[in-house]
Amino acid sequence: MEENTAPAPVESRQPSAHDLEVLSRQLGRPVRDVVEIPARCVCGNPLVAATAPRLSNGTPFPTTFYLTHPVITSAVSRLEAAGLMNEMNDRLAADASLAAAYRAAHEAYLRARAEIGGRSGIGDVPEIDGVSAGGMPTRVKCLHVLVGHSLAAGQGVNPLGDEAIAAIGEWWTAERCYCDGAWDTDGEAPSRDLSRHGPQGLPAIVGRPAPVRKSKKETSE
Ligand SMILES: [Zn+2]
Repeated sequence: MEENTAPAPVESRQPSAHDLEVLSRQLGRPVRDVVEIPARCVCGNPLVAATAPRLSNGTPFPTTFYLTHPVITSAVSRLEAAGLMNEMNDRLAADASLAAAYRAAHEAYLRARAEIGGRSGIGDVPEIDGVSAGGMPTRVKCLHVLVGHSLAAGQGVNPLGDEAIAAIGEWWTAERCYCDGAWDTDGEAPSRDLSRHGPQGLPAIVGRPAPVRKSKKETSE
């Protein structure tokens, strides 16, 4: 396949003030503790934000890669609503080589997080040793997490994230910019966080789950 999801070069990972403003517009809330932009649109706008493995308030934070682009987020929500996660979980249980590749993706996630912790000066976060996100290493619980990881890592690292990216090709592909009109660019960027908690009681740092996700989860688990 195309190398349209190659990892971003290190020099473009540093979030600019403009990036942070775009993130807050994409998510409709201010962002905090974003230390890198691991994947960008062809136009340069962020697709994925990397959150520090330890927040500035000291909380360990395992979910490093967060999909922020609304067009991709809603496309992935469609896959979740269509039951793709159940199908992937069935295949993980039945296909040993897929299960092994998915476990390797989990290990790659942990390595990438450790590298980000190192680059951002945060260092080790022992409280979340061995804990990745999205259901890895044995389950699929959030496709947004897997797609965020695939976009950050480049193709060939997370097999199920790669599959999900291929499956949203009707709505989003890496070759094109889908930013125009995808978020509100008028007025001031959100600066007040009105939410108290994100998914699973974690602080809402870089966004919330897509709207369909919660009801989907309730019926699929
Ligand atoms: Zn764009």
